[in-house]
Amino acid sequence: MPDRTDSDSRKLLGRLRDTMAEEAAGQERLDKITHLIADSLGCEVCSVYLFRDSETLELCATEGLNAASVHQTRLRLGEGLVGRVARLNKIINTADAPSEPGFRYMAETGEEIYPSFLGVPIQRLGEKLGVLVIQSKVAREFSSDETYALEVVAMVLAEMAELGAFVGEGAALKALHQQPTMFRGGTAQEGAARGHVWLHEPRVVVTNLVSEDPESEKIRLNTAVEQLRSSVDDMLENVKSGDKEQLEVLEAYRMFANSRGWMRRIETDIVNGLSAEAAVEKEQSSARARLSQVSDAYMRDRLNDLDDLSNRLLRILTGQGRETGAEMPADPILIARNIGPAELLDYGRSLRGIVLEEGSVGSHATIVARALAIPLVIHAANITTEALNGDAILVDGEQGIVHLRPDETVANAFNDKIAMEAKAQERYGAIRGVETVTKDGQRIELVMNAGLMADLPSLENSGAEGVGLFRTELQFLVRNQMPGRSELSALYGRVMDAAGDKRVVFRTLDIGSDKVLPYMPHVKEPNPALGWRAIRVGLDKPGVLRMQLQALIRAARGRNLSIMFPFIAQPSEFDFAKAEVDKALAREIRLGHVVPEDLEVGAMLETPSLAYASEQFFEKVDFLSIGGNDLKQFFFAADRENELVRKRYDTLNSGFMTFLELIKEKCVRTNTKLSFCGEDAGRPIEAAALAAIGITTLSMRPASIGPVKNMLLNADLSKIKSAIDSARSNGDETTRHAVIEALKH
Ligand code: PEP
Ligand code: MG
Repeated sequence: MPDRTDSDSRKLLGRLRDTMAEEAAGQERLDKITHLIADSLGCEVCSVYLFRDSETLELCATEGLNAASVHQTRLRLGEGLVGRVARLNKIINTADAPSEPGFRYMAETGEEIYPSFLGVPIQRLGEKLGVLVIQSKVAREFSSDETYALEVVAMVLAEMAELGAFVGEGAALKALHQQPTMFRGGTAQEGAARGHVWLHEPRVVVTNLVSEDPESEKIRLNTAVEQLRSSVDDMLENVKSGDKEQLEVLEAYRMFANSRGWMRRIETDIVNGLSAEAAVEKEQSSARARLSQVSDAYMRDRLNDLDDLSNRLLRILTGQGRETGAEMPADPILIARNIGPAELLDYGRSLRGIVLEEGSVGSHATIVARALAIPLVIHAANITTEALNGDAILVDGEQGIVHLRPDETVANAFNDKIAMEAKAQERYGAIRGVETVTKDGQRIELVMNAGLMADLPSLENSGAEGVGLFRTELQFLVRNQMPGRSELSALYGRVMDAAGDKRVVFRTLDIGSDKVLPYMPHVKEPNPALGWRAIRVGLDKPGVLRMQLQALIRAARGRNLSIMFPFIAQPSEFDFAKAEVDKALAREIRLGHVVPEDLEVGAMLETPSLAYASEQFFEKVDFLSIGGNDLKQFFFAADRENELVRKRYDTLNSGFMTFLELIKEKCVRTNTKLSFCGEDAGRPIEAAALAAIGITTLSMRPASIGPVKNMLLNADLSKIKSAIDSARSNGDETTRHAVIEALKH
C-alpha cells in the first residue's frame, strides 16, 4: 500500500472531488467519473456497474465500451468476471481475462476483448452496491498502487450512491433504499404488525469524503481515537471485577482501540486522500466483508467488536450521536442488529414490532418481546443496512417474514391478515369471562406464564385464572446488577397484590443454560443445557436461593404462597431445596415476622428421570408442573435452542404422548396436582391433546389464552382421547393428524 503524498489515488481523489462539487445530474456525473478514472489511471476502459435489484448488475456508465450498451448490458450476480467480483465481494486483477474462470464476452458492448481486467466491489458496510472496472489493451496485471486507487474510488462511489448522487434528471438509475425488499427470518413472537422503521442505531452518514489536508485529518483522527480510548477505559473502570465476560469484551475493545495495524491502515487511507471518517468507514467496510466470510464464532465476535468500535469512532468524528433529532414514528417497528432486554423494556409497549438481524428464540430480548406481546422476527440478514428511518414496513411474526417498503399488493394482503387477526381478538375478548368447559363437559384451568411487571396487566386482560409459572429469573436478567432482598420482596409483593385471590406460582431462579446473568461469574460448559443450571446452582451456591425464599415469604405478608423449584432431576434435590424453605420459615418466625397461612412447595418435571421417581416423591410434593420445553428436548435429545433440530420432533409424537400420560397417571394414583407450563400449552391443537390425556391445568403466554380457550370450548375431549389411542394402536408415529381430525367433528 503506498504511503506517499502524491500517490495515484491522491491525484485521482483530488479530481473526483472537483467533479463531485460540480452541479450535474446523476448520469452526467457518473459519465464524468468514468472518464476521469480512465484518464487518471491511463487505461482504455473504465465502467461502473450498479445493482438494479439484488440479483442484477447493470452497466450504468462507461468510458471506452460502446456507449449504446449503457443501461442495456446486464449481468446476474455471479455471471462473468463482473458478476463474480460482486458475488465473492473480492477484487479480481488479471492480465488474461479470457482465461479466468467465469469469463463472459459481452458482445453487445461492441468492443474487442481487453486482456487486462481489474474489478473492485462497490460496497458500503457490507451492502453490495456494484462493481467498478478498469480494462486495458496491454496484457498486464494492475499494480498495487492502481488497485488501491480504484478501491478508494469505489469507496467514494459507494458513499455518493448512498447519498443519492447518481439519481437525478436523465439518469435511469433508481435511488438506493427505495425498492420493496423482503426478508426471511425466524419467528420469535407471533403476531402481525404494520408500521414505520425506527432504527435502534441510526446509520452514520458521511458527507465529507475527500480531504486535501491529510495532516489536519490525522489530527482529527487522533483526537477522536483518544476520546474513544478514554471512553473504553471508563467503561472498564465501571465493570465490577467479578464480571469476567464483560471484562473480556471490553479488553478486546481496548486491544482494537490501541491496535497499531488498524490505525496504520486508516492513516494510510487519509494520506491517500480520504477524510478521517471516510477512512474509518473504509476499514469498517473491509472488516464487514471479512465478517461475511468467517464462520468461526470467536473470530466473528472479535470482528463484531471491531465493527462496534468503528461505529463509536464514526459517531465521534461526525458528531452524530445516537440521537439524530429524528422523531420516532407513531407506529414504530424497531430495527436492530441485536438488543438487550433492558433497552427493549425502555421502549416498552410503544413498539408495534421488532426485527433483529441476530437474536435467538431463547434470548432475553425475546423473553421481553413475548411478555409485551410484540411481534418479533429474528435473523433478518442485513436489514439494518437496508432499512431507513421512516420506511414503511410489515412484520409477519407467524412466518418470520418482513416486507420493507412493501408494494401495494403485498400491503393489501397484509391488511387483510391484520383485519382477520383483529376479528379473532374480538372473538377472544368476548369469551374472556367464560369458564373453560369443553363440549363434553370437562373443566380446564387456563393460567398464564409471567415474569415481568409488564406482564401483570395481562392477568386481567387475558382472562387467566392465575399465574401458573412466574419466571423469577427475568427480573434478574433485565438488570445490570443483582437485585437486593428488599427490592425483590417489594416486587413479589406487587405481583401478589395484582393477582388478588388468584394463585401465583413463583419459580425460584432458573439460570444457566441459555439464561446467563451478566453480573454473575459465567462458567464455560461443554453442554450448558445439561450443565450447571437452575436448582443445581441454587443448591451448590445457596446464597441467592435463600435470599429469594426470604423475599417471597416476606412479600406474602401472611397470604398464601406457592413456590416451585426448577429442573428437579431426583427427589433428594427437592428435599434439600424444601429444607431451605423450612429454614427460611423458621428464621422468619424467630424474627417475629408473619409467615404464609398456606405454603405450597412443588417441583418442575423437566427431566425424564423425575417421571420415574418413587411414588413417595410424588406424594411428598404439593404439586408438579411439566416444563415441556426442557422435557421435550431431553426426551428427543434435541436442543431447544438449536434451529437445526428444534422443530424436528413433534410434541404430539405417539411416544411422547404416552410418556406424558404415564406422568399424569402417576399423579392421579398419588393424588398430586399436575399442570403443564411449556410453550406447547399455548398452542391450541397441542393444548387440546394435553387436556384430552387428562392434564387439566395449562399455563401459557397470556396472548395464547384466547385462542386456546376458543379451541377448547368447541372440543370434545373424549373423542380426541379415542383418536389419540387409535393412532397409537395403529402404530402412527404422531397423533397429530388424528387430533386434528377429531377437532373437526
Ligand atoms: C420449560 O422448560 O418448559 C419451562 C417452562 O421452563 P423454561 O422455558 O423457563 O426453561
Ligand atoms: Mg425449563
